[in-house]
This record gives sequence, structure tokens and C-alpha cells, in this order.
Amino acid sequence: MQDSLEGPRTRRGQRDGALSLPVLLLNRYFAPVTIIPARRAMTLLYAGSAHAIDDAGEAFDFRGWRTLPVRDDDDRIGVVGGALRVPRVLHLKDYDRTPENAVRLTRRNLLLRDGYECQYCGARPGVRGLNVDHVLPRSRGGGDTWDNLVISCHACNLRKGRRTPEEAGMRLLRRPHRPRWSTTAHILLAARRPFREWQPFLHGR
Ligand SMILES: [Zn+2]
Repeated sequence: MQDSLEGPRTRRGQRDGALSLPVLLLNRYFAPVTIIPARRAMTLLYAGSAHAIDDAGEAFDFRGWRTLPVRDDDDRIGVVGGALRVPRVLHLKDYDRTPENAVRLTRRNLLLRDGYECQYCGARPGVRGLNVDHVLPRSRGGGDTWDNLVISCHACNLRKGRRTPEEAGMRLLRRPHRPRWSTTAHILLAARRPFREWQPFLHGR
């Protein structure tokens, strides 16, 4: 939120919480793009780049949105002169791109792909007990790619060392591959608590 704007400036103490809530971002064709924090959603709404969509599917610009009452079960952002309802869905009026379905190669996404399970022994010691293993070790030219990285427990990682699974007499539970998640699935995975207001846009496509 830019302080120079006479917009939804927040009161102290309310900065976190409501402003971090996830908001579903739609492109101009109402296809889901990603989720963003409410903080950024309010900036886009205030700047006029986006409309907020209420639970009845009606679109509002910032001026319209700020006239809506904050109901009991709404999340609210305190602003100068009152409170604003936190939008759940934002529609980007001029953005017509559809996100690529490519999933970023990160430790977190590897954990999701492999189900938090050591791909050698099947152990599930929790996030801290797991690390990312190069199937063909880096020292031997193995790259950081979806088909060369797997989640493994520390014990298997140590045991394997700088060997291939075959050399170490170890076997992968499944062959690693690039995940084929859709954007929708990715959004649902990323959000701890998908809001019911998202459902019309995430399903039936
Ligand atoms: Zn293991």
C-alpha cells in the first residue's frame, strides 16, 4: 500500500492478518491466474487495475467496494474512516494471459510431488527429516531437473552418497517426473483454506 495514496491505509496492528489473506486473481476471461495476498489485491483494486467480485458474482471498483457493508463473517481491513471488506476474488480487467501450467522446481513442490515421502525407503519423517537428493549425483553431471531430483530421508541420502541408486543397491519407489498439475490444482495446494467464493472459478473448466 503506498502511503501517498489516499486509499485503504491500514491502522496499526491490523497490518498482518487480514492483509495477508489469500485472494484469487482472475484474468479478463475469468480464468484463475494465481492467488495474491489481500494487501496486493487492495493495491490493484485501488489503482483501478482490477474489480473485486463479491459472493453474488457482482463486480465492483474501489469506490463501489468501499460502500459495501462489512458483514459479521467478512474479514475486514481497518481504513481511515471505517472498515473495508476483504475481497476473495479479484478480476484483472486487462490481463488476458493464461498462466502456464509449468510448476516451478522448488523444494516445496518436490515435497508435494513426492508426498513428503522418502523415494528410496518410503519413510515419512516430516519436512525436517527430508532433503532433496540428486539421483545422478551433481559431481557426476546430474542436473537440477524434475527427473533427477527426489525427496529422500537423511539416512538414505547418507547411504547413497555419491553413487547412483544402482551402484548403491537402492531402488526408487517411482520414477521422478515433472508434475502435471493444473493451475487450479496448484492454487488449491498453495492455499491452506480455499474460500467457497473461489469455487465457481476453480471448477467446471
Ligand atoms: Zn529413506
